[in-house]
Amino acid sequence: MNIAPRGFLECTGGPGAPLALLGVPFDGTCSYRPGARFGPAAVRDASWSLETYSPDLGADLDGPAVADLGDLELPPGSTERVLAAVADAAREVAGRGQRLVALGGEHLVTLPLVRVAAEQHPDLTLVAFDAHADLRDAYLGEPLSHATVIRRCAEILGPGRIRQFGVRSGTREEFAWMRDRGSLGPATAEGVREALAGGTGPLYLTVDVDVFDPGFLPGTGTPEPGGLDWRGFSACLGAVLGSGRPVMGADVVELSPPWDPSGASAVLAAKVVREILVGLQGLAGA
Ligand code: MN
Ligand code: MN
Repeated sequence: MNIAPRGFLECTGGPGAPLALLGVPFDGTCSYRPGARFGPAAVRDASWSLETYSPDLGADLDGPAVADLGDLELPPGSTERVLAAVADAAREVAGRGQRLVALGGEHLVTLPLVRVAAEQHPDLTLVAFDAHADLRDAYLGEPLSHATVIRRCAEILGPGRIRQFGVRSGTREEFAWMRDRGSLGPATAEGVREALAGGTGPLYLTVDVDVFDPGFLPGTGTPEPGGLDWRGFSACLGAVLGSGRPVMGADVVELSPPWDPSGASAVLAAKVVREILVGLQGLAGA
């Protein structure tokens, strides 16, 4: 009898696995079009169209190294309670000694994940791939939004511990913030290498999938022309993984499956997740 597997591509790890994968199906603050709550399920489905082998990293996904925990059940209607639930889950995973890779959901879910990672690692640097700066102080009066998430993270980590790549949309004030603090680097392998060589300490990686060009990934809430292709992203990710600075946690956010009936966006997001898992399992095993 063959039973169809569930969860992300051959991830069969238990509580002792070094990596944990957790879905956070929340899209309560999306400014343009919701749907990111369906991201985790779509990524898991699409993952089965991929091979476990990553040609770019030269390694297979080590299924037993990754525990797919499923999706968090989140209370509807209260952003604060959702963020508290995400932080509680992240602390529980950290307490088991696992590194967490989260599947969004919208980008605001990164805030509690970074908060908990910084509790463990006070010298943490946030590495963000995103078409948008996400540096507003408030969005329509709301300080907790996917448009403010990097600003809130900077308040936790300190502005010198933010590194941004792929940003091509933001207000004049947001671009001035990035210029004044030197947080924005070119989305190339060389740019990433240089930016990460300029600091010390562990990293947290957040990938807002709208960093890809909408031609490759239309299934996102706030598509922005002029983005990366797979080659460009993979080169940047390789530079992060090869920086010599450990990646203590990661998330892949803002996939919104309803906006791409072809399903290609979900496959691309799943491939990003596979590459991150393959990259982190190597670091975790080191
Ligand atoms: Mn974002
Ligand atoms: Mn974005």
